[in-house]
Amino acid sequence: MDRGDGVCRHLDENNAGCRIYDQRPDACRIDRQYELHYRQAMSWETFVQINEAGCKQLQALGVGEGTRAIPASTDNRNT
Ligand code: SF4
Repeated sequence: MDRGDGVCRHLDENNAGCRIYDQRPDACRIDRQYELHYRQAMSWETFVQINEAGCKQLQALGVGEGTRAIPASTDNRNT
């Protein structure tokens, strides 16, 4: 999905959102990854906390600057 500069070609930079959000691949779906790979190992809350910590580390490095932050408490497992 790399458009050639490390940014996903589906990212709408004007709105800091995904242009194919409803059809995004499983790799982009935290809820799907949890169900497929992590459900047996940890709770949803722990999984979200770990992901949030990873996002904060990336933000501290300046990765994704200018993109919208999604609240960690957002439970979108049914999206
Ligand atoms: S959610 Fe996935 S497909 Fe959408 S912009 Fe982000 S990386 Fe690209």
